[in-house]
Amino acid sequence: MTTTDYLPIQPIGLGTIEVEAFGSVLCRMAQAHSVSVYTLAMHLRHWWKRSHLGDDRAKLNIVNGINPMLCGYGPNIDAYLDIVKEATGCEAIERTTFLALKGALDPNGHGVIRPDRAWCPACLEEAHLSGEQFYDRLAWATKAIRRCPIHKLSLSTKCPSCHATQLHYHHLGAMDLCFKCKSPLRTVAEAWVVIPEPQLYERECLDLVGKISAGELRIAPNAYSVFITTFAEYLSPLGKKISRFAYKAPRRPQLAREGRPPRLDTLLRRCAAFGVSPADVLSDPEGTAKSACLLEFARLDLPATAKPRRAAELVELARRRLESELDEARIDAIPSLRQIARDVGVSTGFLNFHFPDLIPKYSVLRKTNSKRSIQRSRDSALAFLLAGPVFEYPSPEFSSQDRLVEATVERTGIGVRAARLAVKAALKQRFGAKSYEKYRKRRRRDPTAKWPPCD
Ligand SMILES: [Zn+2]
Ligand SMILES: [Zn+2]
Repeated sequence: MTTTDYLPIQPIGLGTIEVEAFGSVLCRMAQAHSVSVYTLAMHLRHWWKRSHLGDDRAKLNIVNGINPMLCGYGPNIDAYLDIVKEATGCEAIERTTFLALKGALDPNGHGVIRPDRAWCPACLEEAHLSGEQFYDRLAWATKAIRRCPIHKLSLSTKCPSCHATQLHYHHLGAMDLCFKCKSPLRTVAEAWVVIPEPQLYERECLDLVGKISAGELRIAPNAYSVFITTFAEYLSPLGKKISRFAYKAPRRPQLAREGRPPRLDTLLRRCAAFGVSPADVLSDPEGTAKSACLLEFARLDLPATAKPRRAAELVELARRRLESELDEARIDAIPSLRQIARDVGVSTGFLNFHFPDLIPKYSVLRKTNSKRSIQRSRDSALAFLLAGPVFEYPSPEFSSQDRLVEATVERTGIGVRAARLAVKAALKQRFGAKSYEKYRKRRRRDPTAKWPPCD
């Protein structure tokens, strides 16, 4: 007895995302041996029992399983893959299922496989027109894929004649016929539904299928858990600091879930959120966590800042500015040290530290200049008042001292307090200091007293 008691069947599309589904391989195998799928399954069982005494895994009747496409990674599929591998001598048969994900994902295989067949109507029609063998693709078997990645058409799941959901294959393995009413599953092009936009997680899922099909998927131990923990470790110190600045990150995985392997849809969702490939997460979780962190940082909108200048240039720039301010010795207001620091783009501390020679000179200059400018504005206010207004007071135009103050502020541009002092000084000059003192005393007794005194 050799390992190929059965005709050697090779899966179609190996190495591409169009790789065949395991259930489809069994159908073609049944057709190649001119038996029904059920008969083939029975035959394989007996054959296995004969050659593997005591191995009762073959008792499972797989063709009555929950999903006809047989692509999951449950114990049944596992056992049957062993049987078919030995029966056909095809080592690559595993790549027609998601068995490669076993151990990395939820042990029950929840959320991986759909419960019925799904197929692209255009792929079916193309195969019919070209006379090629139509076969079910591994990608069509996942819940994450809703459209044909080649034709962008919504996958069909029901017989166009009897509308039965295809829970099994046609008993003779004819994949283009309905298992129930035996009529063709082909439909007219008008009935096809185009889905132009890529489906959520489609890219991530096809990426996985491609890697499985090529036999390139190598799973690191505890891959998902390592990915999440590494990611959290890298991000947490900075993540906290930057969270105040409108930091929009995908929802953090909950700590309780970190230890457990995820469902396929959870893995795909996380990968889509982090912008990484699921195959990378599973094969190199640490490296992928690092690149996910870099992507996270790239998402941040950092505030725009001026191009940083080198310190030597800045010192020179600040010195020139200070010297020019000292040289000019202008009559009008001299900018404050803080203003200069802001203009140059440094701090006042920077100026104090680098120019111990210039700063004292500058503050003396600023002090004298400010005194001088105060004196100048006082003088101009007094000159304005003595040029007429104070002699007209009281008059309809200057009915009170407040009117005089207002006019002074308006004409000379000095502050209200300075204007009041100027008005007082002007009145003293006009009426004499003595009578002003008299008024102040009277004012203390009677707050409504008016000035000038009406003698
Ligand atoms: Zn298609
Ligand atoms: Zn039907």
